[in-house]
Amino acid sequence: MGRKKVDIKKLLQSMTLKEKIGQLVQLAPFLFKDSAKGIVTGPMEWLGIKDSDVWNAGSVLGTAGAEETIEIQKMYLERNQKKIPLMFMADIIHGYRTIFPIPLALGCTWDEKLVEKAARVSAIEASAGGVHVTFSPMVDLVRDPRWGRVMESTGEDPYLNSVMARAFVRGYQGDDISKEGNIASCVKHFAAYGAVEGGREYNTVDISERMLREFYLPAYKAAIDEGCKMVMTSFNTVNSIPSSGNKWLLRGILRGEWGFDGVTISDWGAIKELIPHGVAEDEKEAAEKAIKAGADIDMMTGCYAKNLEKLVKEGKVDEKLIDEAVYRILKLKEELGLFENPFKGADKEKEKQIVLCDEHRRIAREVAAASVVLLKNQDVLPFDKNIRKLAIIGPYSDEHAILGPWSWQGKWEESVSLKEGIANKIGESKVLVAKGCEIEGESDSQFKKSLRQALKAANEADIIVLALGEHYDMSGEARSRAFITLPGRQEELAREIIKLGKPTVVVLFNGRPLEIRELYNIAPAILEAWFPGTEGGNAIADILFGDKNPSAKLTMSFPYTVGQIPVYYNHFNTGRPKPSEDSTERFCSHYIDIPNAPLLPFGFGLSYTEFKYSKVKLDKKVLTQDSVIKASVKVKNVGRYPGDEIVQLYIRDMVASVVRPVKELKGFKKIHLEVGEEKEVVFEIREEMLRFHNENMEYVSEKGKFQLMIGPNSKDVQTVEFELR
Ligand code: BGC
Repeated sequence: MGRKKVDIKKLLQSMTLKEKIGQLVQLAPFLFKDSAKGIVTGPMEWLGIKDSDVWNAGSVLGTAGAEETIEIQKMYLERNQKKIPLMFMADIIHGYRTIFPIPLALGCTWDEKLVEKAARVSAIEASAGGVHVTFSPMVDLVRDPRWGRVMESTGEDPYLNSVMARAFVRGYQGDDISKEGNIASCVKHFAAYGAVEGGREYNTVDISERMLREFYLPAYKAAIDEGCKMVMTSFNTVNSIPSSGNKWLLRGILRGEWGFDGVTISDWGAIKELIPHGVAEDEKEAAEKAIKAGADIDMMTGCYAKNLEKLVKEGKVDEKLIDEAVYRILKLKEELGLFENPFKGADKEKEKQIVLCDEHRRIAREVAAASVVLLKNQDVLPFDKNIRKLAIIGPYSDEHAILGPWSWQGKWEESVSLKEGIANKIGESKVLVAKGCEIEGESDSQFKKSLRQALKAANEADIIVLALGEHYDMSGEARSRAFITLPGRQEELAREIIKLGKPTVVVLFNGRPLEIRELYNIAPAILEAWFPGTEGGNAIADILFGDKNPSAKLTMSFPYTVGQIPVYYNHFNTGRPKPSEDSTERFCSHYIDIPNAPLLPFGFGLSYTEFKYSKVKLDKKVLTQDSVIKASVKVKNVGRYPGDEIVQLYIRDMVASVVRPVKELKGFKKIHLEVGEEKEVVFEIREEMLRFHNENMEYVSEKGKFQLMIGPNSKDVQTVEFELR
């Protein structure tokens, strides 16, 4: 049976200009609640809007759940003239109440099915809370771990980010967004927000068009090709024009080249920020520039609400622009099924039942275990469950704040701490806990006391888990750091404990690649757990005791030191490349005091077992426009545990009209191998995989020599050659 359709065109024609402009305004929930109570709050004054603007607004930013969405929608429909339902949007970034690992960790699974599953669960829970649109995925390509928001991205590679972008969109939207449990996806932050100078939040982006198109744009495009319904503009400039007022980006690339016909929204307050950016004199000019550039919804400023009507009446803005934007918004509301049921999905009882249900927790645990990266292991892991005593030492030993930033609806007390996870596995009586130190900010005498207690616990134990990391509030929005080391006295604590010489594993909780060079040298084993979410403790325990074999691989390089940033695998060669890492050549592109290579490269991650790669074979050496080369490699599990391996394919264009990266990820396969098992992995190489933006900015391939590389990470690859004719 088809759905009852609303005639959007007719509805649009019946609306006054003021009503139409209302649809372009997004406000926070408290403004509705306060206005209903007759309170004019400070923020409302700051926005400069009136009660009538509130009851005319088109959408809501954020929600506390079903009870609130139902309450606001009811109040709204009683007051809104045309009874056009509000659309509720929220940042459901890595879970609603069941929190999954942060997106950077999700990327490290290299498993689109799992990422889709996580997004699916997030959508089901959020929909029961009355959410209609999530401001996710964030697909900004990231190369600078100083930027706090790298935790929201899936990493430094355009191909992997694109695969993940699609997986998120599929998971959120399902097959039909009109159904309960499916929500619309809004990809962000368009564009190139990940390239802020110096990794400093909200900073300038200055990037060549080729760099933009080659590296930064593909993942947004992938989300759109997957059917993503919305696009959020970014705070930064692109080519000296802020994205929210950037016609070239929004009308040129997004709508013109890519044919996107969904809704665009500015980031929080970004339209008003055209003023401090210095491209608009006042809010009126900001509104004019933004609507003309193609920003449909104004998130949390009064620019549109206060000025668009005047701008139309003065003939400065064509009403057609407003009509087009409103049409897109109404259409989305219609597609979501909101005209039929403005309370779609929102159900207090259902919300209570399904959030954190066993099935969702089970998936969260599975995903978290698949996102933990084993960075080092000198025969320490996995631990035997039949141990006498295990000491967990460090500020994260029994910490519940492991959900990570952007987990608004999540509650810390609902997460499983590392101590709880380990106790669930081997029994409480075998576990000793000592904090050892705070994450940061303690006195010398406090530290000495905590260290003493930690050493005591460590001495009593056979094995030690050092649980260290960044504070949860050190990454995320507005959380750029210049020093990306472990904060406070944690390294000192680690040194003292590791000195005891007992089997010790460091488990790291953090939102970005950290500078861990010293620790990497001395620790017998290191597990990168990121912020693992609700089931974190259980998932890490699964890994520590070998119930799960780690399979994740880094999707962002770990720098040797901060002075190397940006450091990423798909860089250019330069005219004076360093001949080898230990070369002493003076006049080559290098540092005199540190290596060029990062501490840990893109794609890197260990397993408890060992995989042996056979020689890479190509079925032919020449590729033509419509032929395919099959590149194959046999991978054998020659170790002692069953495990998953992520086999990676890279390609390099040796000579082209513009410089090309030294390698680019073009494919990957995650395979499971039992002990002794061997599988053949085959990649198909086609001409379109070799395309890039040539000297005339045309997206084409160029004939000539290519290198094809296959390996377990971006560094340890086997190289063969082929030719495109
Ligand atoms: C962030 C966005 C987010 C928005 C709404 C902004 O500050 O940059 O990523 O979606 O707030 O919460």
